Amino acid sequence: MRKLYIGGAWTASVSGEAIDVVNPATEEIIDRVPAGAPADVEAAAMAARGAFPAWSAAGPEDRAKVLAAAAELLERRSADVAETIATDMGAPLRFALKVQTLMPAGVLASYARMAASHPRESRVGNSLVLREPVGVVAAITPWNYPLHQVICKVAPALAAGCTVVLKPSEVAPLAAYALAEILDEVGLPPGVFNLVSGRGQVVGEALAAHPEVDMVSFTGSTAAGRRVAALAAEGVKRVALELGGKSANIILPDADLTKAVTAGVANCFINSGQTCTAWTRMIVHRDQYDEAVGLAVEEARTYTVGDPFDDATRLGPLVSAVQRDRVVRYINRGQEEGARLVAGGTERPLPRGYYVEPTVFAGVEPGMAIEQEEIFGPVLSIIPYTTEDQAVRIADGTRYGLSGAVWAGTEERAVAVARRLRTGQVTVNGGRFNPSAPFGGYKQSGLGRELGEAGLAEYFELKSLQL
Ligand code: NAD
Repeated sequence: MRKLYIGGAWTASVSGEAIDVVNPATEEIIDRVPAGAPADVEAAAMAARGAFPAWSAAGPEDRAKVLAAAAELLERRSADVAETIATDMGAPLRFALKVQTLMPAGVLASYARMAASHPRESRVGNSLVLREPVGVVAAITPWNYPLHQVICKVAPALAAGCTVVLKPSEVAPLAAYALAEILDEVGLPPGVFNLVSGRGQVVGEALAAHPEVDMVSFTGSTAAGRRVAALAAEGVKRVALELGGKSANIILPDADLTKAVTAGVANCFINSGQTCTAWTRMIVHRDQYDEAVGLAVEEARTYTVGDPFDDATRLGPLVSAVQRDRVVRYINRGQEEGARLVAGGTERPLPRGYYVEPTVFAGVEPGMAIEQEEIFGPVLSIIPYTTEDQAVRIADGTRYGLSGAVWAGTEERAVAVARRLRTGQVTVNGGRFNPSAPFGGYKQSGLGRELGEAGLAEYFELKSLQL
């Protein structure tokens, strides 16, 4: 069994209990991590508290140097780390390398640069405004982008001068272990970063409630985020939440329909649909509806389901049996509610592994469960609209507001619709993902922003000195 990383040392959990890590493609146990206990959280929080004065007082260049070394080492080990991610969460290897590993390595490198360059002081009239690190940060992360979600928190927190206790997802924890090894190897001072694996209701809740934790940064489901926020509220801790989504892809009548549908299907199915920003609702004008459904079905059929290590695979397994069963329940529910299954379904595509067919529903009406709730699998709903106002109403008609897309004949027209949407990010006519732009949600998709300058700002307190 692996060990926890506390105060710069690999330490057994006081619980003595293990959590099995399962390869979702083979259903075999591949590793075991400790199921941390509240006493482990206590030790980690105290280690982080103990390390805070020196780390927060270190020169920005010192912090930058160690973070840059970590980014370099992560890049050097990217092939191994990508294999780890392909094995414990099932992402196809190429995707695991490019998006799940090299992108976070780039984000880490960017925070190393920002650690040195970010202004720590400014003047407002007769006041000197100081940016000071928040303190001890608890980072709680999900399994779907198991390294990226960790880096989005740990990198800016360390760059700002905070110390961290990380609780990665118990479902796919191995990338977080790889990061702990890297931070240890590059000589991050003991206690600055600590790793306590375990279950959300034990380790996550103990962290959110711990008196020595100043801030909780959580990524995961809206239900768990609400619980974390409630626990943190007792201690009036700062909270950052990156939660679920049910994002809309609005295709206006003058858009390039083939391009918009093809990109829309890809965005929905990426990472086997286990992406918080996935455009799971395609909103298409009635006049183009049948054509769009035909194009989406044709496209869905090109998604080869299979082994993450096979080059031909575009859709790996879902992360776990629990997740597969949940997605299958939603596919059944969609049919019960009267939506038309036009591709995929509940058949098991392979005899072994937690696979689900790439699935498309037509005839989806606003208000159906498959239209309102996050499914977190490769399931696309196509919804018709008649007027632009109606398209915007449907897009905004869920409790979420994380992401979305607008396609139109001109950028100007698409931007005009994008401005109307109550959501944290909108892709306009297929614009590229920008890992330096603010990332986060409106409504129940979250609180605060990650990535870039906005992500760093979350980890500072402001102090005004009146001169
Ligand atoms: P989850 O909420 O079950 O778990 C996320 C993390 O929280 C895990 O580490 C888990 O152990 C922990 N946790 C669970 N219950 C907890 C509790 N009561 N107290 C403290 N911690 C607790 O989510 P998941 O299934 O791992 O991930 C999928 C969800 O994450 C989806 O809803 C998805 O949309 C969301 N997500 C959001 C973003 C974003 O940036 N907005 C990114 C990725 C995933």
